[in-house]
Amino acid sequence: MALAPLRAPQLGLAKPARRWRVVVDAGHGARGNDGNTGCHCQRERDVTLELGFGLATRLSLMGPFEVRLAREGDAEPSYAQRKTLAESWPADAVISLHTDVRGTASAFASGSCVSYRNAAAPGFAVLWSAEGPAALTAQRQRLSWALTDALSGAGFKAYAGDDYVGLYDGEPEHVGSFINRKTHARRIWFLRSLEVPTVIIETHHALDESEVARWAETRTRDVFARAVAKALLDYFDAPEAVR
Ligand SMILES: [Zn+2]
Repeated sequence: MALAPLRAPQLGLAKPARRWRVVVDAGHGARGNDGNTGCHCQRERDVTLELGFGLATRLSLMGPFEVRLAREGDAEPSYAQRKTLAESWPADAVISLHTDVRGTASAFASGSCVSYRNAAAPGFAVLWSAEGPAALTAQRQRLSWALTDALSGAGFKAYAGDDYVGLYDGEPEHVGSFINRKTHARRIWFLRSLEVPTVIIETHHALDESEVARWAETRTRDVFARAVAKALLDYFDAPEAVR
């Protein structure tokens, strides 16, 4: 499948009065928690470790952000430890990176492993929880919308959510943003329990060979970091974001 071209957004990177504190979390990787297995048998925990390090490094170099990684190297922090890190610093926002597996996949041999692929459900998704105090859930929603809009604007395809029925609610005004609610089949602890506004970015579909190939490219990671930076600046520029 041909993917649409990516465009790095223009950023105004004037030095702010204080730098925004951002925790980048490489999803999964607690002990025994490998996440999904992708079309080349890549483990989600390894992919997110690499993407998270790349995002944190790029954001750190831009100027307006002070960035900490919630998981790096061989460490296997629990999600509770990541929550403590974000809240004790305290961070202004937490971005947790994941990859997704969706829909009906077919088995095929990939090198030495038998894996699965599905090219019918590409795209990113941003997830946030509607559980908790209204002020906090409003912050999560605005952060999710800012990310969804910036990623779409940079040419990343938003996932429409066909396989999310019963798991998350879509947001028609911001396609790619999804709400996790108390009533859903799977409530995501990391999204609903942190006092710092937190979102998950499902960066791409790990069973889609075209998307996996694109996300291996430096340019994709460069544009992604610029888009995330744009979203964070849009989010922090709004007065409600300031504590
Ligand atoms: Zn995941």
